[in-house]
Amino acid sequence: MADIQQELDKIDPSIPFRATTSHVHYTWAKTFSCKPELYLQPRTIEEIRKIVNLARRCRRRVVVVGCGHSPSILTCTSSWMVNLDHYNAVLKVDKRKKTILAEGGIRLRQLNDEANKVGLTIPNLGSIDDQSIAGAIATATHGSSMKHGLLSEHVKSLRIMLSNGQAVRCSPEQNQELFRAALVSLGALGIITEVEYQMVDSCNIEWTQTLKPLGTILDTWDTTLWTSKEFTRVWWMPYMKRAIVWSADRTSKPLRPPQENFYGGSVGYHIYHNLLWLSNHMPFILPLVEWFVFGMQYGFSTGMTTSAVEPLRNGLLMNCLYSQFVNEWALPLSKGPEAITRLSAWINREPGAGGIPFSNKGLYVHCPIEVRVSDGSTSHPRPYLDNTCADGPTLYLNATLYRAYLQDPPCKDRYYEAFEWLMREMGAKPHYAKNWQFTPSSYVEQTFGNDLKQWIKVRNEADPDGMFLGEWHKQAFGLGDSKSFPLAERQISLDKGRPGNCLFWRGVLSEENASARGGSARVCGSANIGKSISAKKLASPTASSSGESFDMMHEAETEKSTMFNGSEYDDEDHGDLTDR
Ligand SMILES: Cc1cc2nc3c(=O)[nH]c(=O)nc-3n(C[C@H](O)[C@H](O)[C@H](O)COP(=O)(O)OP(=O)(O)OC[C@H]3O[C@@H](n4cnc5c(N)ncnc54)[C@H](O)[C@@H]3O)c2cc1C
Repeated sequence: MADIQQELDKIDPSIPFRATTSHVHYTWAKTFSCKPELYLQPRTIEEIRKIVNLARRCRRRVVVVGCGHSPSILTCTSSWMVNLDHYNAVLKVDKRKKTILAEGGIRLRQLNDEANKVGLTIPNLGSIDDQSIAGAIATATHGSSMKHGLLSEHVKSLRIMLSNGQAVRCSPEQNQELFRAALVSLGALGIITEVEYQMVDSCNIEWTQTLKPLGTILDTWDTTLWTSKEFTRVWWMPYMKRAIVWSADRTSKPLRPPQENFYGGSVGYHIYHNLLWLSNHMPFILPLVEWFVFGMQYGFSTGMTTSAVEPLRNGLLMNCLYSQFVNEWALPLSKGPEAITRLSAWINREPGAGGIPFSNKGLYVHCPIEVRVSDGSTSHPRPYLDNTCADGPTLYLNATLYRAYLQDPPCKDRYYEAFEWLMREMGAKPHYAKNWQFTPSSYVEQTFGNDLKQWIKVRNEADPDGMFLGEWHKQAFGLGDSKSFPLAERQISLDKGRPGNCLFWRGVLSEENASARGGSARVCGSANIGKSISAKKLASPTASSSGESFDMMHEAETEKSTMFNGSEYDDEDHGDLTDR
């Protein structure tokens, strides 16, 4: 901590450094937690730059977190955690182009609130709108529509602060390589400070949901299932071999709320939660639970239909219920029937078990398995890390496992090992914001091929020391070896924590690892954090000194870099978009 205060004293004291030392971070699902050395909530671009410059001088890793909805260790750090909840303003609305320029911390819901005031709305959403815009695009978040690709598809331009403190604007026309890398960046490129997003006119959607036999789903797969409406998603119930098909189109009809069902609200919520908890001890009840819970909610016989007319921004959302593990993969839509048939055979212990070479003895899984689609094949330019198919529509299969009262279900490892094996055999790519765990980085490297290499090239130029790299990037992409990236953070422990089966993550920087070998390690997140420097002092630096910082030269060099054209002051090119 003394090193931070020393460097802080050298930087312009008029720019606040809003840091706290007692923050404990949890993922939304309470799957992982960590205690960052500093938790920072900047309010201006100057404050963000100060954090980055200081991190570089103090040799710290920086992790940006949105609302922590990614369920893996992606956002875990023992170093510095930056959150842009107070850097979330709308900067410009262009009614003619139907675009909104907003600061990177804005949540999708807030963006929609602002858009609705001028008759606009976000064109496509996943199941929720809690995410920050930057966090949602960073992990390739998607909805379910053949008319849309990833949420990144609607980004017109963005601004990202790189590890040298330079905030660079990029778009399809300007710094295109950086733009393609930043559209899905996994927090490893820099801090996205602004996003210009394409909206559409606000509208209502009329949705219907119908219970159908799985056979009908597979029979209509290549004809009407995915194309008859703009939005379609399917919840597959593996034991009943049925599925609920939810589909929606835009409409000019007036709002019509869905029919109330006494079971649909808190009664059903608590009954299902408790049955899931019971099934952790008696897994064999799960087929019965599936029949009962989904029968009560959606009807016991096929053909039952409900419908409603809601605003697009609400109609697409759903209640995701409880803490959960999610394991979602993207594969060519045409391979869907084979994937579902084989997985169904394995789950139901049918002869041959779908050719999946893992034991299914005594194994019972949760439902529904989410089946969704997107089509990003016409998006241009595509993110380097776009996991959808480049040459046609994409299917997403999501094996959800609920964690009733935050307890992990007993089937998890065996189910996920088999599921991931099947997905790999079918050439699928994992969704980054999920919990895949049995797939080596070599598979990911091989399936992303040249695109991953391009992304790594841009990333390494933008962040040569690995200030934005962590254990997740190493496990997923094999990226961030300690020698090349002194600031990359490595996992040193993953311990049982609280609440429930939440795991507590601890990391150490590569550089510290090296000095530990030399005998003087500083482990971030240690119990002494905050003792040598008071939060008050951090929040309002007072002194400045002429002491020389070792990274001044580094900074001077990088800020002159012409690697990415333009700088933070290049808004003249976009005069109609920024009115600051
Ligand atoms: C209940 C629930 C429902 C979901 N539904 C869907 C769905 O329907 N479809 C789908 O595809 N996904 C879905 N997700 C996943 C979710 O969209 C992603 O996890 C998303 O990344 C969460 O956004 P966040 O703001 O919480 O980001 P975080 O989880 O906090 O961060 C995600 C990544 O973004 C980076 N990041 C955040 N802010 C910035 C920034 N300003 N600059 C640079 N990098 C940044 C982080 O470093 C991290 O790498 C769901 C998740 C939950 C919990």
